[in-house]
Amino acid sequence: LKERNAKDIWHPMAHPADSIANPPEIITKGEGVTITDVDGRTVVDAVGGLWNVNLGYSCQPVKDAIAAQLQALPYYSIFRGTTNDQVIELGAMLADFFKEDGLTRAFYTSGGSDSVEVSLRLARQYHKIRGEGGRVKFLSLKKGYHGTHTLGASVNGNANFRTQYEPLMPGCYHIPAPYTYRNPFNETDPEKLAQLCLAAMEDEIKFQGAETIAGMIMEPVLGAGGVIPPHKRFMPGVRALCDKYGILLIADEVITAYGRTGSWSGSRHWGVKPDMMCTAKAITNGYFPFGAVMINDKVADVFENDKTGKGAIGSGYTYSGHPVGAAAAIACLKETQRLNVKDNAAARGAELFAGVQKLQESHELIGDIRGGEGLMIALEIVSDRATKAPGAKPTMATIQKTAYETGAMVRVSGNNIILSPPLIVSSEDVNTILTALDAGLSAA
Ligand code: PMP
Repeated sequence: LKERNAKDIWHPMAHPADSIANPPEIITKGEGVTITDVDGRTVVDAVGGLWNVNLGYSCQPVKDAIAAQLQALPYYSIFRGTTNDQVIELGAMLADFFKEDGLTRAFYTSGGSDSVEVSLRLARQYHKIRGEGGRVKFLSLKKGYHGTHTLGASVNGNANFRTQYEPLMPGCYHIPAPYTYRNPFNETDPEKLAQLCLAAMEDEIKFQGAETIAGMIMEPVLGAGGVIPPHKRFMPGVRALCDKYGILLIADEVITAYGRTGSWSGSRHWGVKPDMMCTAKAITNGYFPFGAVMINDKVADVFENDKTGKGAIGSGYTYSGHPVGAAAAIACLKETQRLNVKDNAAARGAELFAGVQKLQESHELIGDIRGGEGLMIALEIVSDRATKAPGAKPTMATIQKTAYETGAMVRVSGNNIILSPPLIVSSEDVNTILTALDAGLSAA
């Protein structure tokens, strides 16, 4: 299987030759918070699929809902003139779930990149309907990740995801991220750094001209860029600047929505109400590809009250509002709330964070630890704490491989080890993850 995998399949975000040099694990089974590979090894999935399997792999109500929906209606489009019962029920549930965020309408997609793309398109359209068609540019954060479609890649803060595909969308500008460990200001105080980043954002707005900017997109806690939770004043500061300059604030909550930060949304975690919110991943917990952009009244009113025809939405996918996806989302949302996974995320996240801090005392390789806002944590690996030289590829591979052999799947992203286990993990699972990490770091 490993040979055929290398021969026949290209993997996302990997060099094709990597599959030969480092054959990936072949996962054949998932149960609870564990995964089992083709060789029969069972480990705790400290990655939670890809930050999405919040409810673990054995969520029977979701499996039952999918099976029942496949019997009743496996597919029907919600394009022009038709809809289906599942998307309607889900719409009401999402409006209720995100009421506190001020988000009242849902636009369905097939995943995170689609949600980002739709939100950016809607942002431009919103301004055009209002007669401010010059507002076409976007701001985002360096180190932010917003998927791989063309607009999303353009606002991506990591140049590695952009350069091979340029020219991308012009008019996208990246603001320094509130990343205390490394930043252009050499500022280590989180609050001061947040102020510096906000000042840089305001400078960019003035330089570009506010009347040219459509939106600011940001993750409330940056995920793939290495888990960067900003100071608590940062996102409220971004909201204030957006309000001051008529810019829409789009929260990319593809990772953070539905409990991962210990709050039901990352925006709520910081007390911010965005104009739009991109969601996907845990909306269906990996049981079916699905996503939803949530929209507030301010944006919705402009579209809904448009009398010129400009409010007709030109975005959508064959699988927007897939009834099986919607049925899965309904069941996931019910389970997410019934189990109150956000509270377990906060409690287990604090345990995992404290455990990793302890590991840092004995492992020089850990340069920085970030997260602890729920169950998203990164260990930044360095070869030298004084120079902060990033951990080398073989070091990262050794940590990952040994951790896996000792009982936990962790994720390597650049020189970060990322932990984002299912939100239903127990304290015992947290200990398994810490033991595996300890072994991985010792081996490295
Ligand atoms: N936005 C964020 C914040 C993400 O983390 C991701 C995926 N990791 C995406 C967008 C893209 O989502 P997808 O991979 O489902 O297209």
